[in-house]
Amino acid sequence: MGKIYLIDVTNRDGVQTARLGLSKLAKTMINMYLNEMGVYQSEFGFPTTRHESHYLRANLRLQEMGVLQPIRLAGWMRATAEDVKRAFELVPEIKDVNLSISTSSQMIRGKFQGAKVEEDILMMAMEAIDAAKAYGAQSVGMNAEDASRTDTEFLLRFASLAKEHGADRFRYCDTLGYDNPFITYDTCKLLAQEVGMPVELHCHGDLGMAVANSVAGAMGVIDGGQDAYVNTTINGIGERAGNADLVAVVLALKKSRGLAKKYKFAMPIRLSMAWKICKYASYAFNVPIPINQPGVGANAFAHSSGIHADGVLKDPQNYELYDFKELGRGEPEMVETGREISSGQYSGISGFRHIMGKMEINFESRGDAEEILELVRYANVLAQEPLVADELRFIAKYPDIARELLTLTPLS
Ligand SMILES: [Zn+2]
Repeated sequence: MGKIYLIDVTNRDGVQTARLGLSKLAKTMINMYLNEMGVYQSEFGFPTTRHESHYLRANLRLQEMGVLQPIRLAGWMRATAEDVKRAFELVPEIKDVNLSISTSSQMIRGKFQGAKVEEDILMMAMEAIDAAKAYGAQSVGMNAEDASRTDTEFLLRFASLAKEHGADRFRYCDTLGYDNPFITYDTCKLLAQEVGMPVELHCHGDLGMAVANSVAGAMGVIDGGQDAYVNTTINGIGERAGNADLVAVVLALKKSRGLAKKYKFAMPIRLSMAWKICKYASYAFNVPIPINQPGVGANAFAHSSGIHADGVLKDPQNYELYDFKELGRGEPEMVETGREISSGQYSGISGFRHIMGKMEINFESRGDAEEILELVRYANVLAQEPLVADELRFIAKYPDIARELLTLTPLS
């Protein structure tokens, strides 16, 4: 029986969203939290983009140090041999890659304007896989962009060929959020059965069905005899109407009627990280969590009407499907209502020592404190908002990594 793996794409699809972005430190924190949560892989960025190089290499160093373990860190790029070459030149330590190419006739026609046909797409993609293998990639995911609008026969051919060339997974991208759960189930089951390789679900919310399609697709893949990989983003942040929300996907698979008996996660997911990771992503993206968001919205466990309040007071299970404590909620949060000292790009040593002292981080010498403070100033320049306690702790614990993350000199 196949199992379910989560691949979070916040640091790739999330950050390429219009109006939104994350500092390299924030992306790193997200990788740390995803790892803590038990997510199998973080699609952590763009190895062909030069301003990502320091960040990507620093995170791979954290992996080597055993800090970012056991999570896998995969880079995303277009499926061309040139992009693969450039990725391995800029980030030689990279081990896991996802290669993406459009497969629908709409996109082949609409993007390449007659310059390429289906056969060219197959050739480009296979050359890219061969190149990634030649550079020693330990895993290669083959992404079919706009798979849901792709002719099924061509999609099967594309996936089979990718498997022959050594791809480890096939990503079924419902790039425009066009599918519904029933058709996603059927298509993904067919892919799993006919191609015989693990299938990844990458679903968007243009019709409000990203989570439902992801869950149905995963069921189809497992019923087709393969492992299913589900792409998520924290708070569902992603292109246009967003991606499948991480916490909602986990909740659906764990709590929806009868699902958990048959469809199981390959590794334990610590749902208790939900509150922390969602709050952090909301702060870092500067996007509030909707009041009615599953699990972590302000109203997810709020009751006011007479019948509901009475019922939940007698027995929470009358009106709650799961307990707030499972999501890491319910702990009191410290909110400063009086004098406040926060970190900033122009912070000085005394305010900084005060902030760190409150977190019980003390420095052996003034010199040590000043070294960390300097990094914190730079981190503030990039974040443009006060750093949170975990970010300050991270910088104090891994100053060399922080220095690399904060280095944004254009490479020559
Ligand atoms: Zn996407």
